Amino acid sequence: MDFELTEEQKMFQTMVRDFCIKEVEPHAAEWDESNEFPYEVVKKLADAGLLAVHFPEEHGGSGDTVVFVIAVEEIARASAGLSVMYLVSLGLGMYPILMHGNEQQKGHYIPRVINGAIVAFALTEAMAGSDVAALETRYTREGDYYVLNGTKIFISMGAEADFATTFATKDKSLGHRGITAFVVDKGTPGFSVGKIERKMGIHPASATELVFDNCKIPVANLLGEEGKGFRVALEAIDASRVSIAAQSLGIAQAACDAAVAYCNERKQFGTELSRMQAIQWMIADMATDIETARLLTYKAAWLTDKQGRAPLKESAMAKVFASEAAHRVCHKAVQIFGGYGYTKDFAVERYYRDQRITELYEGTSEMQRWTIARQVLGVK
Ligand SMILES: Cc1cc2nc3c(=O)[nH]c(=O)nc-3n(C[C@H](O)[C@H](O)[C@H](O)COP(=O)(O)OP(=O)(O)OC[C@H]3O[C@@H](n4cnc5c(N)ncnc54)[C@H](O)[C@@H]3O)c2cc1C
Repeated sequence: MDFELTEEQKMFQTMVRDFCIKEVEPHAAEWDESNEFPYEVVKKLADAGLLAVHFPEEHGGSGDTVVFVIAVEEIARASAGLSVMYLVSLGLGMYPILMHGNEQQKGHYIPRVINGAIVAFALTEAMAGSDVAALETRYTREGDYYVLNGTKIFISMGAEADFATTFATKDKSLGHRGITAFVVDKGTPGFSVGKIERKMGIHPASATELVFDNCKIPVANLLGEEGKGFRVALEAIDASRVSIAAQSLGIAQAACDAAVAYCNERKQFGTELSRMQAIQWMIADMATDIETARLLTYKAAWLTDKQGRAPLKESAMAKVFASEAAHRVCHKAVQIFGGYGYTKDFAVERYYRDQRITELYEGTSEMQRWTIARQVLGVK
């Protein structure tokens, strides 16, 4: 048994951390405030080789989930909003192509992402949130084309994405057996960005409607087989879960670091806050939550690499625990800052808002618990 990252992984972690200290962290508050997506940093991530890491070796990556998780954690520690772009473009949005795309599709889309293309994963609809099989976006076949009609909502990076993997049904009455996966490029006639949500946090990553209005795509844009899209979607979400755990971990670590620095500086009643037992207990609980979340997250990533697929139970445990641990940690960090923690002068206010989404997207905490319980109980 070995709980250490390898030397190579540690070097990679240092490299990403240095990149984030220089290129991300100093701008995170400004991106949060302006809500304008910093395309220039995507170019810098590409130049640093950080957009290739998760892809198979033949595409210049390591194909390694542990390495991906290290990068997501470090980027989220500096800017949770930017980490949304990173984990959707390299992970969630690309998994349908990586897992079910043909060689031509992989050869076309993977190099684009490595060079800075942004990806979206468009599944959710107004009547299909947790119950994804209830989706209503329709497709029909017309000769060498598929025609898509419907509206997706809450799509991360919807406004910025260069292409999206998406899901539609041939006939809603077929249930999950009617669903098929597709890839749609920005600029395709009939494909547009609708309402842009005004969100609590994870600025500057957008969450938008994506509208398909008689959107005609070549049959070559089919991902996998017709009628197998539900499985494609679930496999993508299963694989991506660990990256949300890593995102939660990064936010929690940033909040804990800020609280430690603050309580060592700030004095009340003639002494540093760090000498007060009530504060020490909060710091102890924060550090323990982070350590436990890190063990679960890295174990799930390690298992993914070992087994060649995401471990359902362990990934769900990592996501639900890390996101809720981040909730507790950010809450305590604001508490330790007192009234200052409620102002935009300190980053803990942003961490507190950014953290909240990790308990909601890519499967709410209730859905994770359902997944865990079914695995433990052995029921469908
Ligand atoms: C900022 C943001 C970004 C997002 N990004 C994306 C994206 O990139 N792509 C994408 O496709 N989607 C995205 N989503 C959508 C997100 O995944 C969904 O919002 C989420 O899955 C929950 O769906 P819902 O909001 O419809 O809630 P609902 O499914 O309506 O759930 C409401 C409440 O009921 C609970 N609940 C539902 N069913 C059950 C059950 N069977 N048992 C117990 N409790 C249950 C839920 O846990 C929740 O507490 C994003 C959402 C947001 C807010």
